[in-house]
Amino acid sequence: MRVTFATAEYSPIATVGGLAAASAGLVDALRRSGIDVDVVLPDYTSRDKGIIETVELHVPLWAGPATAKKIKHRQAGEITLIDAPGLAKSHPYLQPDGNGWLDNTDRFMRFSAAVAAFVRHTSPDVVHLNDWHTATALADLDPTPPSVLSLHNLAHQGAAGREWLDLIGPKSDHYEWWDGINPLAGAIALADHVVAVSPHHATEIVEDGNGFGLDGALQAKGLALTGILNGIDTTVWNPEHDRCLPAAFSAADLNGKILNREHLVNELGLTDDDSLLAVAVTRLTDQKGIDLLLPLINLLDEIPLRLAVLGSGDRILSEQLAAAANDADRFTFVDGYDEDLSHRLIAAGDLFLMPSRFEPCGLTQMQAMRYGTIPIVTPVGGLVDTVVDLDTQPRVGRGFVMNDVSSTALISAVHRAVRKCRGKQLENIRTRIMSVDWSWDAPAKEFIKIYQQISR
Ligand code: ADP
Repeated sequence: MRVTFATAEYSPIATVGGLAAASAGLVDALRRSGIDVDVVLPDYTSRDKGIIETVELHVPLWAGPATAKKIKHRQAGEITLIDAPGLAKSHPYLQPDGNGWLDNTDRFMRFSAAVAAFVRHTSPDVVHLNDWHTATALADLDPTPPSVLSLHNLAHQGAAGREWLDLIGPKSDHYEWWDGINPLAGAIALADHVVAVSPHHATEIVEDGNGFGLDGALQAKGLALTGILNGIDTTVWNPEHDRCLPAAFSAADLNGKILNREHLVNELGLTDDDSLLAVAVTRLTDQKGIDLLLPLINLLDEIPLRLAVLGSGDRILSEQLAAAANDADRFTFVDGYDEDLSHRLIAAGDLFLMPSRFEPCGLTQMQAMRYGTIPIVTPVGGLVDTVVDLDTQPRVGRGFVMNDVSSTALISAVHRAVRKCRGKQLENIRTRIMSVDWSWDAPAKEFIKIYQQISR
């Protein structure tokens, strides 16, 4: 089976966030299962080396000229890069000052038109689109080919002005939205199957008022909207072979985990005692609920617990965390995005705190469990699918699920965790959560089933 997989990000060629890891992780597993995948990605760097094939694409005048350049990447394998006006930039979406490029709408409409032209040229069995950056491709494919749309982040929909209705292709009426167009809404309507990044999130987004304005369009899909949990890269996140860690460890031998904790407590200057260490690794945005940790910091001596947070983003929140860290021996905050430190923190932690307000899937709770670090999470999105509460289901539990999204619920869950996570019981929980398979193998099988159903 041949699949065209179009995405704006792909690790390690173009990485901004979770979309890059999810695209590369899924495609790698699909290819290992024998699916022939053409990955189509914008050519952000105007690459001129290592091109093995070039095809001029037949796109409408406004979108061209567009060229498909096939490369063979050492890690990512064969990738088709789309060269079209405006696509090459220093960052896929953002100007150096942090604002979006002013021509982002034009850029990704051109990319989508090139994806449609590539599909006409190659006639794959299935077209798999990801997020709004690829969504108007279906406007220019008549008849609509067997198609899947993955929703990684409903908060970004690519809404644009009415003038696009005359440009994007014969099926543009499906994209009409108030007084303009909505790429995501159009692709949701046209795709044979729509996939959210976790089963629970798929049920949340069809609730009235919970679908980022697209609840109606999503409800109309009925059974053609499902959730498939993201995987993580279990070769990068492997405590037995992780070059970032001072000591390796495994479910069978947890001694290295204790060494990692000692090392980190030293490195970050935290109180050196035998209390549990809680960690958080996160973007600092309202979504992640890190502000809910602030009241916990005053209670750390009393519980007792140590807490280390690595995060970057919102300036006010980072200032609040830095100020709290000044006054506390049991709390430390590192402001920044630091992959090596994120691995060391997750390896060293006993508990992983993730009080998200919403979470389409969430990767860090899976990374934490792979490293034997017990998650404390809110009952939202993919956190519900991945973390079973240890008090409600002691035999299969994996962590602690808060009653609601609040500081009080977080503090009670921390108390429950501190009571339960001791001695042999702690070791048993660690061993259990470390043996869960978070790889992309199972998700890839589910996607293959969908591909088979829609291409019959
Ligand atoms: P998001 O909503 O930010 O995509 P996820 O949990 O799905 O949240 O994925 C976040 C990814 O980014 C994870 O791989 C996590 O380890 C990483 N990450 C988040 N914040 C940081 C940070 N400050 N430093 C290093 N890595 C981070």
